[in-house]
Amino acid sequence: VNPKPSQIRSDWTRDEIATLFELPFTELLFQAASVHRANHPPEQVQLCTLLSIKTGGCPEDCGYCSQSVKADSGVEATKLMDVQQVLQSAAQAKDHGSQRFCMGAAWRNPKDRDMPAIVEIVKGVRAMGLETCMTLGMLTPEQAEMLSEAGLDYYNHNVDTGPEYYERVISTRNYQDRLDTLQNVREAGINVCSGGIVGMGETRADRVGFVYTLATLPQHPESVPVNALVPVKGTVLGDMLADTPLAKIDDIEFVRTVAVARICMPLSMVRLSAGRESMSEATQALCFLAGANSIFTGDKLLTAANAGDASDAALFAKLGLTPLQGEEPMRAERMAEVEPAE
Ligand code: SF4
Repeated sequence: VNPKPSQIRSDWTRDEIATLFELPFTELLFQAASVHRANHPPEQVQLCTLLSIKTGGCPEDCGYCSQSVKADSGVEATKLMDVQQVLQSAAQAKDHGSQRFCMGAAWRNPKDRDMPAIVEIVKGVRAMGLETCMTLGMLTPEQAEMLSEAGLDYYNHNVDTGPEYYERVISTRNYQDRLDTLQNVREAGINVCSGGIVGMGETRADRVGFVYTLATLPQHPESVPVNALVPVKGTVLGDMLADTPLAKIDDIEFVRTVAVARICMPLSMVRLSAGRESMSEATQALCFLAGANSIFTGDKLLTAANAGDASDAALFAKLGLTPLQGEEPMRAERMAEVEPAE
C-alpha cells in the first residue's frame, strides 16, 4: 500500500470501514503500518502538552467528563487562568520538548468577554515558537475568525463517537452542533483537531460511524485524537462501567480503531490521548505500529492522570522512537499537493 495524494478520500462508505475493522488483526496492522510509513516518518512521534486553563463547572452533560456540573466527581470549578500563568506553563512544556501546547477550557462556548484574554494567550504561546491548540467548546463563525486572526494553529472539538451513539453520551447539544463548530473552524482557516473516545459502551458499528464521520469530512482533520475512556467515579459513564467491567475497551479493539483511523485518514496526525496511562507498553507499541504518531506528555491531562515524561522517555528509548521536531516534512509536502474534496 502506497497511497498517492489522489487516494486521500472523503468518500469512504461505512461498509468499507467495517470491512477494515474485520480484517485479520495482523493484516490490518500491516496495511495501517504501510499507509503510515508512506506518509509519515514512522519512528517520529509528536509530543503535545495539555493544560486546563479553566477547569470544572461546565454546564454540558458529557457522560464521560468529570468537569460537568452534572458529575459528582469532586472536581472544583476554577476561573480562567491568568495569562502570565498560562505562558509560564507553556514555557515549561517547551523546555520538556513539547511541540504543541494544547489548552482546554470547560465551557459550553466561550463568552465574548473571555475572548480578549484568550487572544492574548494564543499570541503569547505562539511567540514562544510553540504550536497552539485550544478547546473551548462551541464557536460562532465570529469567534473562530478572532482566534484565526490571533494566529491559533489548531482548534480541538471532538465528535466523541458515532452519530447513533452520541445521544446516549450527551444531551445538552447534538451531533450537528459539533459538526457546525468544526465547519466554522475550518472556514476560519484554523487546522482542525477532532477525534473521540472509545470504550464508552458503544458497539463496533458505533466505532465505524465515528471513523466514518471524520473520514468523510470534506477535508480530514489534521489531528485525530483517539482516547480510551478513563472511567471516573461520579460521572455517568464511570459509574455505569464500574458495574459492568467487561465494557472496558479491549486492547486489540482499541489498536484496531487506531489502525482503521490511520488507513482512512493517511495524512492526519493520529494521537494517543486519554487512557494511555493504563495501557501496557506492548499495547502502546502496537498503536505506534498501527499509525499513532502523536501523544500527550506530562503527568496530567485536563483532570486525569497521564503516563508522565519519565515513563514516556523510557518507552521511546525502548522502542527507538524520537520526538518529532518542527513541521513534519512529508506531511507538509503532501498536504500542499492534496486538493480538498468538493
Ligand atoms: S467534555 Fe467539555 S463540554 Fe463536555 S462536560 Fe466536559 S468540559 Fe464540558
